[in-house]
Amino acid sequence: MNDTRSDGTDPLVVALGGNTLLGQHGPWTADEQRSAVERTARHLTDTLDPGTDLVLTHGNGPQVGNLLVQQEAAAETPQLPLDVLVAETQAQIGYMLQQALDNERPTETEVMTLVTQVVVDGDDPAFARPTKPVGPFYTETEAAEKPFETRAVSDGERPYRRVVPSPDPVEVVEADEIAELVARGNTVVCAGGGGVPVVRDGGLRGVEAVVDKDRTSQLLATALGADTLVLLTDVAHAYVNYGEADQRPLGRVTAADLRKHLDAEEFGEGSMQPKVEACLRFVAAGGERAIITTPDQLGDALAGEAGTRVVA
Ligand code: ADP
Ligand code: MG
Repeated sequence: MNDTRSDGTDPLVVALGGNTLLGQHGPWTADEQRSAVERTARHLTDTLDPGTDLVLTHGNGPQVGNLLVQQEAAAETPQLPLDVLVAETQAQIGYMLQQALDNERPTETEVMTLVTQVVVDGDDPAFARPTKPVGPFYTETEAAEKPFETRAVSDGERPYRRVVPSPDPVEVVEADEIAELVARGNTVVCAGGGGVPVVRDGGLRGVEAVVDKDRTSQLLATALGADTLVLLTDVAHAYVNYGEADQRPLGRVTAADLRKHLDAEEFGEGSMQPKVEACLRFVAAGGERAIITTPDQLGDALAGEAGTRVVA
């Protein structure tokens, strides 16, 4: 296993889902975003021991979507590629998290945000089959005029959205630096939006893609030698028969049992499925446990009393 720890600490890696950073309904003013981030920061500081070596990752779907809308609305300024926009959202969300966490718990070592790149394989089959919808919705006529690939992904007047590839993350470029910051005592916000996707092409080069944040969070947690990976979202558990009258929350679950539920397609594609896969990869790579739950259940989940807790 690729263990980059520099001093034997075992950081806790916590991935923050979209709803932990935004209220439930858009269009999400800066104030709405700030109050959602503050609520999540309070859950983290109330729950975690001040000495916890904490690495925070996060999603960016709505934020990068808004930036894409802004691009289209401002014809007089040059259009920026997706990798640059992902980097912008890392700063935007990281800034709010830094401020909220430092205000909740003033300490000598600051919370730091790191613009994070993640290497993907230029030959990943995902590049031939873009699946991830991003940005605004278009009519069929509007979609036909776009310089990028679009696909009808819903019903109604404007069913079309841009679709981009979602390749597997291979390596977090800044993993060693993240480990060093953690060893110094900094809480690190990184790998936002799954990281800025880059290929190794002589040097590093940004690509038009979106990497799944749950997958990147697993890759990073494994590289850091973390014991526990936590994926915080808006449901307290992964469920079987989700949405049915007889839905059943998964508590402590072995990887073998969870894999059976995964194979039975119990988990939503693009929502719960990548989380479950990330948990399975994490314990398969030697991690002790992976947790799926909500921010308010984090403490109970770490105590083994709430949430879905995946063990080898
Ligand atoms: P995040 O922004 O935290 O990644 P997602 O929307 O991607 O959030 O994933 C969480 C969502 O997964 C839940 O709100 C729920 O609607 C959906 N979901 C799909 N299948 C399941 C399942 N089997 N158990 C629990 N949630 C599920
Ligand atoms: Mg998600």
